[in-house]
Amino acid sequence: MQKLSPQTIAVHSGTKRSQYNEMSEAIFLTQSFKYKTAEQAEDLFLNPKKEEFGYSRYENPTVRMFEERMAAIEKTEDAYATATGMAAVHGALFSILKAGDHLVASRALFGSCLYIIEELLPRFGVEISFVDGIDLDDWESSITTNTKVVFVETISNPTLEIIDLAAVSEIAHRKGALVIVDNVFTTPVFSLASSLGADVIIYSATKHIDGQGRCLGGVICGTEEFIQKVVLPFMKHTGGSLSPFNAWILLKSLETINLRCRTQAESALKIAKSLEKHPKIKKITYPYLKTHTQYSLAKKQMTGGGTVIAIELVGNKKTTFSFLNNLKIISISNNLGDSRSLITHPATTTHQRLSIDQKKYLGINDGLVRLSVGLEDVKDLVVDLKQSLTAV
Ligand SMILES: *Cc1c(COP(=O)(O)O)cnc(C)c1O
Repeated sequence: MQKLSPQTIAVHSGTKRSQYNEMSEAIFLTQSFKYKTAEQAEDLFLNPKKEEFGYSRYENPTVRMFEERMAAIEKTEDAYATATGMAAVHGALFSILKAGDHLVASRALFGSCLYIIEELLPRFGVEISFVDGIDLDDWESSITTNTKVVFVETISNPTLEIIDLAAVSEIAHRKGALVIVDNVFTTPVFSLASSLGADVIIYSATKHIDGQGRCLGGVICGTEEFIQKVVLPFMKHTGGSLSPFNAWILLKSLETINLRCRTQAESALKIAKSLEKHPKIKKITYPYLKTHTQYSLAKKQMTGGGTVIAIELVGNKKTTFSFLNNLKIISISNNLGDSRSLITHPATTTHQRLSIDQKKYLGINDGLVRLSVGLEDVKDLVVDLKQSLTAV
């Protein structure tokens, strides 16, 4: 079999056809499946099989197609799809960890990931250490031979700091820990996570995989052993499985994810460059901008700069709000990876819960906005951003 390129995989992999040979994947919108005999039902409960289906909380054909396509894209053996990105993070961590285990995580985390790691896991007796994600010495001293799991967001939200995945994976593996990455900001299009050493790769499919702001979803990619023996038993009994209808939307979206993310990343780089010297902007952060302090790592670790830009305005909360309110095309919203450009003020929304010290540590101040670049013409977006800056 010829080695397929990522675009071809994203269009074809995982497709299974019914007896009607439909071209577009079928939606198996069914809760359960009819057994031919009682013996078959008994056998399936005794020995679950990937290609036989009993109940959609366990497995479903449309969901299975999405899982196999994601595993093919990420170059992992298997995948499990979940109802949301957080169901994926929760499922991956809670299925593997137990009381007495030790987890090390980077401190710059998405709010809900932080809640799971800081609030929930300790309730169940899991020990937690946080490190400065870009400080390899900190990783080296915090990961011990007792560490079971290392958890990172490969690019931090919203300040776009990049974790050196190859280096952190090397430290973790040397000490026997499993590396779980939340890879949302890198996107499946620009990711090399499995080749850099990540053992488990998680996406909120709500973001670039849907990419058109419609449905929630998530996915955990990993070895067959991890997915079938660790994740599946936990997920099928705790209920975070993906709806077949949403799996179908995500399958359709994967067909265009390369076109979308590449266009959005090209536009993001153009926007970052065109605003770099603007007098009302203090700092602009984008992984593929030469001024990013980790530019060479970004180039080594991702095949594109991603679709999100962090912009720090000169001024206070009032002027930043007025900049957001003046935008005509770009919408104020918390989502990202949408075909529509969206802008967020992290300090008062996604990261509002954090203490002043945590915000300061993460570089989240009143002037900072996070721009998720969409599929509009980049010229229109630049005009919109500039007119709003002028009006401030
Ligand atoms: C959005 C997001 C999640 C959560 O995804 P949902 O689908 O909203 O549950 C987790 N991690 C990161 C980095 C995200 O951006």
